Amino acid sequence: MPSPTVKLNSGHEMPLVGFGLWKVDNATCADTVYNAIKAGYRLFDGACDYGNEKECGDGVARAIKDGLVKREDLFIVSKLWQTFHDQDKVEPITRRQLADWQVDYFDLFLIHFPVALEYVDPSVRYPPGWHYDGKSEIRWSKATNQETWGAMEGLVEKGLAKSIGVSNYQAQTLYDTFKYAKIRPATLQVELHPYLQQTELVRLAQAEGIVVTAYSSFGPTGFIELDMDRAKGVAPLMEHDAIKAMATKHNKTPAQVLLRWATQRGIAVIPKTSRPAVMEQNLNHTDFNLDQEEIDRISKMDLNLKFNQPTNYFPTEKLW
Ligand code: NAD
Repeated sequence: MPSPTVKLNSGHEMPLVGFGLWKVDNATCADTVYNAIKAGYRLFDGACDYGNEKECGDGVARAIKDGLVKREDLFIVSKLWQTFHDQDKVEPITRRQLADWQVDYFDLFLIHFPVALEYVDPSVRYPPGWHYDGKSEIRWSKATNQETWGAMEGLVEKGLAKSIGVSNYQAQTLYDTFKYAKIRPATLQVELHPYLQQTELVRLAQAEGIVVTAYSSFGPTGFIELDMDRAKGVAPLMEHDAIKAMATKHNKTPAQVLLRWATQRGIAVIPKTSRPAVMEQNLNHTDFNLDQEEIDRISKMDLNLKFNQPTNYFPTEKLW
């Protein structure tokens, strides 16, 4: 079943169900991307920071060479890392990322976080990560979000990105962007699952014509892989009694219920797995609807519990 699509404010169509590439290891990444294309995925959500864009590009190139898809069938998403926010750094790094993917445009390019760090030359370390010295030192850049967004708009003008968007923005950063954007963000990608529902932010983005993409739709599950205590300390969403009951009722899996809770409301999803059977299960989840009572039940599960915070990866004193 191909994913339904949603029209972005840029005029381009984006698949509502895509494939997430964070934590896909380098050794298996090309095969994983190839298998995901074979399973029917067309949207791939990558980033400089995931350190696997070359391998993603290898998987895409093989799928195109084998005739599974053409470039224009795919919707390739990547992200600008924090150390490249200065306006003169945006285009060169985008070109490098495109070269890694072996394509000449991104369908969507996002500001990964509204945080600017001092430039680290890719020849010194790539991907650069958060720390200037690769260990513990944080060095801020003075690049403003406005400066960076202007350079992102330049990518569209030069044909390097068809659409541009933002990630990990909250309401105030969005409002600021509206003041100066010549091209409005097409999408907002944020952590979003029943334990972190971001109801007001979703309402704002949708009212402003921005498509929301939910990341980490399975909540703690994606962070247990990182051995994060906060994630290990809460009940996995796929084992939650209410979610399991809905899955049984609709003859679906708990994962499909969690994904449908988003896509049913026009929110895109980008689940990640390396198992082909699970890839298919995640992609093919849009042929049923939760009823209002079930949506209301899930609304009550909100804990405002965010896992993907920089401060969850390293001690606060190292950040400030
Ligand atoms: P996820 O919510 O997709 O969860 C992944 C985990 O769930 C893996 O352990 C996987 O094995 C398991 N899983 C997947 N499908 C399953 C199923 N049907 N049944 C049982 N288990 C299943 O987590 P994620 O990787 O954190 O997020 C998805 C994607 O979102 C990332 O790969 C990345 O592309 C994107 N992301 C973006 C940001 C950002 O800052 N913009 C941050 C985090 C993630």
